Amino acid sequence: MGIPDMNDVKVPFIDLKQRYIEEKEELLHCVERVLESGHLVMTPELAEFENDVSIYTGAKHCIGLNSGTDALMMSLMAAGVGRGDEVITTPISFVATSGAIAHVGAKPVYVDVGPDQNIDSNLIAAAITPKTKAIMPVHWIGRVADMSKILEIAERHNLVVLEDSAQCMGSYLDGQHGGTFGLAGAISFHPLKNLNAIGDGGLLLTNDDDVARKVRLYRNHGLADRDNCVEYGVNSRLDILNAEVLRFRLKRLDGIIEKRQANVALYREMIRASEVRIPQDKSNQKTSYVMCLSLCERRDELQAHLRENGIESLVYYGCPLHLQPAAQKFGYKAGDLPVAENQAGHVLAFPHHQHLTPDQIEYVADTINGFYGA
Ligand SMILES: *Cc1c(COP(=O)(O)O)cnc(C)c1O
Repeated sequence: MGIPDMNDVKVPFIDLKQRYIEEKEELLHCVERVLESGHLVMTPELAEFENDVSIYTGAKHCIGLNSGTDALMMSLMAAGVGRGDEVITTPISFVATSGAIAHVGAKPVYVDVGPDQNIDSNLIAAAITPKTKAIMPVHWIGRVADMSKILEIAERHNLVVLEDSAQCMGSYLDGQHGGTFGLAGAISFHPLKNLNAIGDGGLLLTNDDDVARKVRLYRNHGLADRDNCVEYGVNSRLDILNAEVLRFRLKRLDGIIEKRQANVALYREMIRASEVRIPQDKSNQKTSYVMCLSLCERRDELQAHLRENGIESLVYYGCPLHLQPAAQKFGYKAGDLPVAENQAGHVLAFPHHQHLTPDQIEYVADTINGFYGA
């Protein structure tokens, strides 16, 4: 991700180095323990971490993988989605959502989003065709989409629901953890997520025994045991060092999310300018706030103004997924999904991490208010 060049950064967008300083002793202890054990792949430590995530999320099965992208792809494969199938999804996400669908040979069918940037459940039914096999909603920034409606539509049309819950660790709807509503959910441990590995990592959540069995096999070459390959798979195992680091960090996750929620609340309170909107949670949503996204007027000018004042901000993302060059073959054009396209022109992510101080948030808010004369 390209963070713009700045001479004098007063408020950085993220601060992973600070995290290292804070956790150094425990992290180095993880490294030492794993290296001393001499076991780095598929040891009981991985199962222990998976069990911890089961307890945390309430999912019956948790399967550690190389990345959230692999979790998305394997959820589709395990559900039998493939060539010629259509998957209803959203244009507002990281490209991996569409990429996973395309990789199994299926076609993403995009449905526009609502003001909260999640798929608009009222528009889903009209997008269903005889080829539709699955619905893949994204819980953007960790805000869980309208799952009761989505599950109801899926049931009525005999479709599976696979959740892109990459940003969902610690996110809930009606008290239920994101990624546990559908047949399977994908979690990412990318360094920019709230529960982050030291590198890449991901995990699949499912309550379905058959999906779990397939994904466990598939992540490890289809090996039922050392000598017995029952079907060809891939190598997508969460490594033991990351399993240990994530186990330690999982214990701190709730505190981190509380800090992030407090940051967003402070931004909302201090930004007076009516030109800036930070979408709100509904009362039944508890959001992990992987990002602090706003929709603002004159976005590019505001971003330049922030930059001049030493504040890093990022556009997540300036191009909705249906207009990416790679999606050309699916036949979408500008104007097809007006809400998402409009949001892509207004979205801006403010600095947001657990080490941000109230003074820094106040400085960002004052700079924004100054820009709009609010
Ligand atoms: C991060 C992310 C992914 C990809 O996860 P990786 O672990 O980086 O492969 C997919 N979808 C969404 C919504 C994400 O935020």
